[in-house]
Amino acid sequence: MSGVYELRHRVLRERLEEVAMAAGQAHDEEYVRLALCCLALLERHKVDDKGRCRRCPHVAGWWRLGSRRCSVVPVVGFYLEQPSRMVTAQG
Ligand SMILES: [Zn+2]
Repeated sequence: MSGVYELRHRVLRERLEEVAMAAGQAHDEEYVRLALCCLALLERHKVDDKGRCRRCPHVAGWWRLGSRRCSVVPVVGFYLEQPSRMVTAQG
């Protein structure tokens, strides 16, 4: 059974695929490119059931031993899941 992080990663990937398909139907190449760019980043940062990926650097220190939480997946999640007014405020 997938962990919470793996599940979130899968949901984000599916959401990006939906965005790319919807943009493709609108014939807007730039939106398709942006969605596929995010999807490619997400695929390079596949996380395990603890939210760790192999790309993001390992955080040293005994208190975080073994921690390698992905820094990309939470950002992608933020921009896909938050209300647009919050996303604009972050920009
Ligand atoms: Zn990562």
